[in-house]
Amino acid sequence: MTREELYQSIYTHDTIYLPPHEQATAALEVSLGCSWHKCTFCDFAKDTFQIHPLERIEHDLKILGKLRPEDTRLFFLGENAFCMSTGQQLAVMELVHRYMPGVKEYAMYSRIDDILRKSAKELLDLAGAGVQALHIGVESGSDSILEARNKGVTSSQIVEALKRLDETGIDYYLTVIPGLGGRSFSRLHAIETARMLNQVHPRNIWCLKLKLWEDTPLWQEAKAGTFDEMTPEEILREERLLIENLNVRDCLFEDTTVLDQFTIQGVLPGQKEELLRAIDYLLSLRG
Ligand code: SF4
Repeated sequence: MTREELYQSIYTHDTIYLPPHEQATAALEVSLGCSWHKCTFCDFAKDTFQIHPLERIEHDLKILGKLRPEDTRLFFLGENAFCMSTGQQLAVMELVHRYMPGVKEYAMYSRIDDILRKSAKELLDLAGAGVQALHIGVESGSDSILEARNKGVTSSQIVEALKRLDETGIDYYLTVIPGLGGRSFSRLHAIETARMLNQVHPRNIWCLKLKLWEDTPLWQEAKAGTFDEMTPEEILREERLLIENLNVRDCLFEDTTVLDQFTIQGVLPGQKEELLRAIDYLLSLRG
């Protein structure tokens, strides 16, 4: 088998989705799909949720260890791999020690309730075993919007979970979806999301503008006229309001979907004015 064929043999799908800051990280598929699977905007979680048996994980690790023998960081793949129990994660890490002994750090996607289900001791144990970063789609800080989009958590649960990560030293990278409230709730979405983010310490806020995926419940709401989809320019104005109201520290803010063609990036709070100027400039191009 070629190197390429070996890689293909250990992943269920041809394309694997890693967050921007993990693009160089080796990825081990430990689960598939999302344990929640109910957010009305999501087109991402098509697979039936499952945690892979240890035998399969060991089989894939043997191959990955040969392909990436020097790696020191590993990404556990799955839409919310952190929903695995502490025991399951520690068992996988035991196997990692055997086949990829250089690995000292782990990162993965998580839902907020995956964090809340774990005790403080479990979180500390996982941090001690090397869990270094969680990538979490918080999407909004507005309870009305979280509820309307069926996210399954409230803003106070988000804050509680992230504060628990602060106590353990696990870093978190958050995704926010500008436009998720629609036109009627745009201002609420920006202000409440900033209010929520200001209470915690994200390493990174990654804005991904709302995309309506065909046949999702939110797409159907838009078709029926009960969700008022915003234009890219309106969404960018909403994002400007979000940034204006952010008081986070040492946090990289980025949006790779600005007006569907640009990326903006800056470290907050130092580059806040630069970010706002970049947005004003891009909006001025649209007249
Ligand atoms: S938690 Fe994430 S992956 Fe799961 S349904 Fe919601 S947006 Fe999709």
